Amino acid sequence: MTDCIFCRIVSGEFGTELLGETEHAVAFRDINPEMPVHLLVVPKKHYRDITDLVAADADALIDVAQLAARLAEEHTSDGSYKFLFNTGENAGQTVFHAHAHILSQMPKSN
Ligand code: AMP
Ligand code: ZN
Repeated sequence: MTDCIFCRIVSGEFGTELLGETEHAVAFRDINPEMPVHLLVVPKKHYRDITDLVAADADALIDVAQLAARLAEEHTSDGSYKFLFNTGENAGQTVFHAHAHILSQMPKSN
Protein backbone atom coordinates (compact mmCIF):
# COMPACT_ATOMS: atom_id res chain seq x y z
CA MET A 1 0.00 0.00 0.00
CA THR A 2 1.36 3.37 -1.00
CA ASP A 3 0.10 6.89 -0.39
CA CYS A 4 1.58 8.12 -3.67
CA ILE A 5 -1.38 9.19 -5.82
CA PHE A 6 0.43 8.54 -9.13
CA CYS A 7 1.60 5.06 -8.05
CA ARG A 8 -2.03 4.34 -7.25
CA ILE A 9 -3.14 5.60 -10.68
CA VAL A 10 -0.44 3.45 -12.34
CA SER A 11 -1.68 0.41 -10.43
CA GLY A 12 -5.19 0.98 -11.80
CA GLU A 13 -6.74 1.52 -8.39
CA PHE A 14 -8.97 4.39 -9.55
CA GLY A 15 -9.75 3.16 -13.04
CA THR A 16 -8.19 6.33 -14.49
CA GLU A 17 -8.47 6.44 -18.27
CA LEU A 18 -4.99 5.98 -19.70
CA LEU A 19 -4.37 7.93 -22.90
CA GLY A 20 -1.21 6.02 -23.68
CA GLU A 21 1.06 3.39 -22.21
CA THR A 22 4.53 2.02 -22.89
CA GLU A 23 6.62 -0.56 -21.05
CA HIS A 24 7.83 2.06 -18.57
CA ALA A 25 5.37 4.98 -18.67
CA VAL A 26 1.69 5.91 -18.73
CA ALA A 27 -0.25 9.06 -19.59
CA PHE A 28 -3.53 10.46 -18.34
CA ARG A 29 -5.40 13.78 -18.18
CA ASP A 30 -4.51 16.31 -15.52
CA ILE A 31 -7.44 16.55 -13.12
CA ASN A 32 -7.18 20.35 -12.99
CA PRO A 33 -6.27 21.46 -16.52
CA GLU A 34 -4.51 24.79 -16.97
CA MET A 35 -4.75 24.75 -20.76
CA PRO A 36 -7.13 23.15 -23.28
CA VAL A 37 -4.67 20.27 -23.55
CA HIS A 38 -3.14 19.32 -20.20
CA LEU A 39 -1.86 15.77 -19.93
CA LEU A 40 0.57 14.09 -17.57
CA VAL A 41 3.15 11.42 -18.43
CA VAL A 42 4.63 9.46 -15.55
CA PRO A 43 7.12 6.62 -15.21
CA LYS A 44 5.47 3.46 -13.89
CA LYS A 45 8.17 3.15 -11.23
CA HIS A 46 8.24 5.68 -8.44
CA TYR A 47 10.89 8.40 -8.64
CA ARG A 48 10.57 11.58 -6.65
CA ASP A 49 11.24 13.95 -9.53
CA ILE A 50 12.90 14.28 -12.93
CA THR A 51 16.34 14.62 -11.32
CA ASP A 52 15.99 11.18 -9.70
CA LEU A 53 14.52 9.71 -12.88
CA VAL A 54 17.42 10.96 -15.03
CA ALA A 55 19.93 9.58 -12.54
CA ALA A 56 18.32 6.17 -12.20
CA ASP A 57 16.36 5.03 -15.22
CA ALA A 58 17.27 6.03 -18.78
CA ASP A 59 14.74 3.57 -20.25
CA ALA A 60 11.86 5.16 -18.37
CA LEU A 61 13.10 8.64 -19.23
CA ILE A 62 13.05 7.81 -22.95
CA ASP A 63 9.58 6.30 -22.64
CA VAL A 64 8.27 9.44 -20.92
CA ALA A 65 9.68 11.67 -23.68
CA GLN A 66 8.50 9.42 -26.53
CA LEU A 67 5.03 9.05 -25.07
CA ALA A 68 4.82 12.82 -24.63
CA ALA A 69 5.71 13.37 -28.29
CA ARG A 70 3.11 10.83 -29.39
CA LEU A 71 0.40 12.41 -27.23
CA ALA A 72 1.22 15.88 -28.51
CA GLU A 73 0.79 14.57 -32.03
CA GLU A 74 -2.55 12.96 -31.14
CA HIS A 75 -4.03 15.73 -28.98
CA THR A 76 -2.87 19.02 -30.51
CA SER A 77 -3.77 20.52 -33.86
CA ASP A 78 -0.27 21.77 -34.64
CA GLY A 79 2.16 19.54 -32.71
CA SER A 80 3.34 22.42 -30.50
CA TYR A 81 3.43 21.83 -26.76
CA LYS A 82 5.09 22.70 -23.49
CA PHE A 83 6.95 19.82 -21.87
CA LEU A 84 7.33 20.76 -18.22
CA PHE A 85 8.73 19.12 -15.10
CA ASN A 86 8.16 21.09 -11.92
CA THR A 87 11.04 19.96 -9.74
CA GLY A 88 11.02 20.69 -6.01
CA GLU A 89 8.53 22.38 -3.74
CA ASN A 90 9.81 25.89 -4.49
CA ALA A 91 9.27 25.27 -8.20
CA GLY A 92 5.64 24.34 -7.61
CA GLN A 93 5.94 20.56 -7.51
CA THR A 94 3.02 19.19 -5.50
CA VAL A 95 3.04 15.50 -6.44
CA PHE A 96 6.37 13.87 -5.65
CA HIS A 97 6.25 11.15 -8.29
CA ALA A 98 8.11 12.36 -11.38
CA HIS A 99 5.73 13.60 -14.07
CA ALA A 100 5.85 15.60 -17.27
CA HIS A 101 3.13 18.12 -18.03
CA ILE A 102 2.12 18.26 -21.71
CA LEU A 103 0.44 21.63 -22.24
CA SER A 104 -1.07 23.18 -25.35
CA GLN A 105 -3.50 25.94 -26.32
CA MET A 106 -4.27 24.14 -29.57
CA PRO A 107 -6.43 21.05 -29.07
CA LYS A 108 -7.11 18.85 -32.06
CA SER A 109 -10.66 19.47 -33.23
CA ASN A 110 -12.55 16.31 -34.02
P1 AMP B 1 2.98 19.47 -10.04
O1 AMP B 1 2.52 20.78 -9.48
O2 AMP B 1 3.95 19.63 -11.16
O3 AMP B 1 3.44 18.51 -8.97
O4 AMP B 1 1.70 18.85 -10.75
C1 AMP B 1 0.85 17.93 -10.18
C2 AMP B 1 -0.33 17.87 -11.10
O5 AMP B 1 -1.04 16.69 -10.82
C3 AMP B 1 -1.32 19.04 -10.94
O6 AMP B 1 -1.44 19.73 -12.19
C4 AMP B 1 -2.62 18.35 -10.51
O7 AMP B 1 -3.76 18.96 -11.07
C5 AMP B 1 -2.42 16.94 -11.00
N1 AMP B 1 -3.11 15.90 -10.27
C6 AMP B 1 -3.16 15.73 -8.92
N2 AMP B 1 -3.90 14.64 -8.62
C7 AMP B 1 -4.31 14.12 -9.80
C8 AMP B 1 -5.11 12.98 -10.15
N3 AMP B 1 -5.62 12.18 -9.24
N4 AMP B 1 -5.33 12.75 -11.46
C9 AMP B 1 -4.82 13.57 -12.41
N5 AMP B 1 -4.06 14.64 -12.14
C10 AMP B 1 -3.82 14.91 -10.85
ZN1 ZN C 1 4.69 7.12 -6.91
